[in-house]
Amino acid sequence: MPQLQAKDTLRTGMPIAELPGMTKAKAARFGRLNIFRVADLLRHLPTRYERESAESSLAQLELGTIGATRGQISRCHWEPKVFRRKGRFQATLDANGFELQLVWFNAAYLRDRLHPGLILRVQGKVKRYRNNLQMINPKWDLLDDATDTPQLDERLRPIYPATDRLPSAAIEQVVDQVLGQLLGHVEDPLPAPLLEHHQLPPLADAFRMAHWPRSLEEADVARRRLAFNELLLLQLGIAMKRAFVRDQLVAPSLKHSHAIDRHIRARFPFPLTTGQDHVVDQIVGDLRQSRPMNRLLQGDVGSGKTVVALYALLMAVADRKQGVLMAPTELLAEQHFGSITRMLAGSNVRVGLRTAAAETAQSAISSGAVDIIIGTHALLNESIRFKDLAVVVIDEQHRFGVMQRAVLRAGGDDAHVPHHLLMTATPIPRTLSLTVFGDLDVSTINGLPPGRSPIRSRVVGQNKSQEVYAHLVDRLNRQEQIYVVVPTIEGGQGDSDRHLKSVREHAALLQRQYFQGFRVETIHGRMKRQTRERIMERFRSGRTNVLVATTVIEVGVDVANATVMVVEHAERFGLAQLHQLRGRVGRGTHGRASLCVFIAEPNTDDGDRRMKAIASTSDGFEIAELDLQIRGMGDFFGTRQHGAPPLRVARIVEDMPLLLLARQDAAVLIEQDPQLRHNEHAMLRKVLLQQYGQMLGLIDVG
Ligand code: ADP
Ligand code: MG
Repeated sequence: MPQLQAKDTLRTGMPIAELPGMTKAKAARFGRLNIFRVADLLRHLPTRYERESAESSLAQLELGTIGATRGQISRCHWEPKVFRRKGRFQATLDANGFELQLVWFNAAYLRDRLHPGLILRVQGKVKRYRNNLQMINPKWDLLDDATDTPQLDERLRPIYPATDRLPSAAIEQVVDQVLGQLLGHVEDPLPAPLLEHHQLPPLADAFRMAHWPRSLEEADVARRRLAFNELLLLQLGIAMKRAFVRDQLVAPSLKHSHAIDRHIRARFPFPLTTGQDHVVDQIVGDLRQSRPMNRLLQGDVGSGKTVVALYALLMAVADRKQGVLMAPTELLAEQHFGSITRMLAGSNVRVGLRTAAAETAQSAISSGAVDIIIGTHALLNESIRFKDLAVVVIDEQHRFGVMQRAVLRAGGDDAHVPHHLLMTATPIPRTLSLTVFGDLDVSTINGLPPGRSPIRSRVVGQNKSQEVYAHLVDRLNRQEQIYVVVPTIEGGQGDSDRHLKSVREHAALLQRQYFQGFRVETIHGRMKRQTRERIMERFRSGRTNVLVATTVIEVGVDVANATVMVVEHAERFGLAQLHQLRGRVGRGTHGRASLCVFIAEPNTDDGDRRMKAIASTSDGFEIAELDLQIRGMGDFFGTRQHGAPPLRVARIVEDMPLLLLARQDAAVLIEQDPQLRHNEHAMLRKVLLQQYGQMLGLIDVG
């Protein structure tokens, strides 16, 4: 049982190395588990519990259980190894003629502590070694005589996340040493009425129940409380950010009228679909307000997000202000630049491209000589000055990572910000939209533009590759075009990747072996912009029949006549990425059947699940949910360090009901006290800023 130290000498911020009995080496082992200060032990929570049976007589110990018993030491033996302090100490415990062998490794100090005649109570896993019952490294207490102390009760032993050099039992020992005192220092950030309302215990009690549960029910109550704590903080952070954006920041309220609407639509080569109209309405509603828009536009691959973005940008221009469109790759930025320039040809809207390869001058941006600036997300890292920036659109937000939420400012003044529109073809699963993206409003484009045909998807093994390509010659003869995606530009680095197909070699092979008489070209991210543009232009115009590419074509590339995609080594790509790639075909193909072939040799369970998923559905929402299931939330955005909120106890999917509760509570709290300035919220505010200040940009809140 826990030994509470009598004197309250503990400081919670104290380095763990300063605990009595702690060596430097051992403290370093705690460090590996991110336990540096005594208070960190509180949050190092057991992952499970083992039931320890109540004390029994030695004769009744059960093999394989954690048992407790008592007896008298009849013999002791020290068996040194080469080094003096290494070796094993062995004692035999005797009770009414039954014997139990006790073995401690590397415990020379026991030579001075244990000797025949002493009465011990011991606890440990009961094993059999040869013909003896045995406990290895048991816990022990010295008893004055065999009868005077109470019997040990059954209890739950916490099992901690541990390492080879620092087993759970060693952690438990230190926790037992300090927990009693630590609990006295725990302050509860949550307002008491809230806890009462949800029948949750105070934080100190929850920690006690998590480390020293009297029953599994207690452990459960503790988990619930600690999970709620995390979820409430997260939801508060989100609510606070929303309130801050709503109340403290100002964006230009853009004018809008029937005439403006008519002018903008006149630029589009097609009428908008009902789905597009619907989200345009929502965006127009936002842009007319002086409260900054913070909207996520999700629409499956090919649903037509670009014109919606252009609508928003042109609203800025109509009000003599500027707009920015950012894409994750240069190729996509170039393509946006091309298609937007075409749509705006003959108007007096000035469009500039700013990427590593194409520099619209800073002076043109700050003087207002360009109205719409198109670039890559690198724009975020440049300190570009704008004349009057009103709308920022970030395309393919899922590729940016969560931390990189736009930080472009409107002008010199911190309170003035542009409106933000984030676009993604990877829909945010509901669970995540309530957490990581909880500070955004979400719009969804339903349906695809007319004339699309469904895409057939096939997953086949390497051995079918010949058949696949031979079959595709028919398509080429019918004037259809083909993308082939491979994982590397010049062949893989390192032994495991050497067999990977490369753009260069694979294109040569296809040309030679299957597609003689057709034009095969390559494209990848390391080419010069002009080269890339010429290649895309030849493919778009149909002069090139087959384009062999890396994943540079993953997003946005839009060639209506391309009806087939082959992805080589498909098992190496993420699910969202495969879905994106597949979205490059089946655009405006007017009845021709589009086909996507994934050539794959999955050699992991996850790989197998990804291939099954991609073959089973072409619905982006389903893909996103499956992706989340396969990868888990931390990896979902490929931003393990930054993307996921710091949840240690709460499980985002299973704890959904708790999350919804926390969300409600957070809304009420922030409604009453938007910046948590009330005295009774001081703790809450402090903890909140510590944990989420940076991630949610709450630093601004001050
Ligand atoms: P995504 O949502 O994947 O970014 P795009 O904006 O690239 O989709 O649009 C995909 C294709 O659909 C483009 O060729 C675009 O011109 C076309 N498109 C978009 N909206 C419509 C529409 N309302 N009617 C017909 N074609 C459209
Ligand atoms: Mg797009």
